[in-house]
Amino acid sequence: MMDQTTRDDLLKLFQSKLNQAMRFYLETCSRCGVCVEACHVYASMGQVKNISAYRHEIVRRIYKKYYKARGKVWPSVGEAKELSDMALEELYEAAYTCTGCRRCMVYCPHGIDTQMIMSIAKLLLVGAEAEPEILTMLADTSIEKGKSLDLFKENFLTGIKNLESKVVKKWKIDAGETAIPVDFKGADLLYVALAGAHSIVPAAVIFNAAKENWTLSYFEAVNFGAFVGDPTRTKLILDRIINEATRLGVKEVCICECGTAFRVMKQMADKQPFKVSSITEVHARYLREGRIKIDKSTLDDPVTYHDPCQLARNAGVIDEPRYILQHLTDDFRDMTSDVRYNWCCGGGGGLVALGDETLDFRMKSASVKVDQINETGAKILATACENCHTQLSDLNEHYEMGVDVRFLSSMIADALVQSA
Ligand code: SF4
Ligand code: SF4
Repeated sequence: MMDQTTRDDLLKLFQSKLNQAMRFYLETCSRCGVCVEACHVYASMGQVKNISAYRHEIVRRIYKKYYKARGKVWPSVGEAKELSDMALEELYEAAYTCTGCRRCMVYCPHGIDTQMIMSIAKLLLVGAEAEPEILTMLADTSIEKGKSLDLFKENFLTGIKNLESKVVKKWKIDAGETAIPVDFKGADLLYVALAGAHSIVPAAVIFNAAKENWTLSYFEAVNFGAFVGDPTRTKLILDRIINEATRLGVKEVCICECGTAFRVMKQMADKQPFKVSSITEVHARYLREGRIKIDKSTLDDPVTYHDPCQLARNAGVIDEPRYILQHLTDDFRDMTSDVRYNWCCGGGGGLVALGDETLDFRMKSASVKVDQINETGAKILATACENCHTQLSDLNEHYEMGVDVRFLSSMIADALVQSA
């Protein structure tokens, strides 16, 4: 049973989230029901508990019990609820079945932000040590790397050296140039990748083709602190990259194909001496400026594109991938005429990072996404986010969709035209 000290500590965390916007979200729901069909989980599984307004309700009731201003009346808010162990279980269920895609926010006449409300649930779970432990452990590993970089440097640099031949194979390098520069003071652009060749090699090929003055970050872009909803860990993970960018004096930080990493960096690093871009924006810019050229004939099959929620709906990177795809194919088939209403892939909010534990739910809760993809008739399914790519690949296998799930960056790298 939850003791009073624990409850008081958790309520302090709750209070730390109560800015003006959050109070508005918690006090405004009119229970109009417009958001009922908006959530892919509800649309796919049909359970009332997955309606976005239902998710809010548990947080709202706790708010009503502990923070309701005297004399204020909200007819829309149900019974006040005590913060208890049982309440924490309900908060877990609500928060870890929500991908934070914000599709419901587009429908809500008041623009109520479910992801923000769920961030209270996630923070209370972290405070009660009831969050998915693996996400906190992964966040701590990232933070540790920032503190003791010297211990990781040698292995990292050896790994990167081993990748350089793969870059050279795809793109010729002029004598004296380094295929994957690391820790280069004087670079204009710092590229923050994910662990793994798939996030580094195609990007390096394209940077070299565009003759970018770039350098690779020591750190991975992924922010497990954001997935688990821990603001302290989120910031520590971000700070590693901000400090590195500041030390190197770069003008631009380019985040790899990871929607959450981009959105978090963009939102939290706005007062830095560098600009923050997604790699998709950078690639579109190279094409626009004629710095890279693409051979359209490399793709025979129809192509569709899944907009990562954190990149498109939540960060406005919508035209750039389409501009790139115009250069890659004459048979691009958009999934929807209005990207704001695009279905989430079902893998965000830390669900993909939780792996097999969430696999069954992820598959069942994204059947509307599968229908949306199938309706295009496309054989190539492009995207620009690691989480989405993993989830879409799992859906492809589970539902036997028969599509080829591709990263946009690797499609560009494969179709680059070598200069004379
Ligand atoms: S943010 Fe997305 S997953 Fe969460 S309730 Fe809204 S539509 Fe559903
Ligand atoms: S659409 Fe907005 S106001 Fe209406 S029930 Fe949903 S969250 Fe509440």
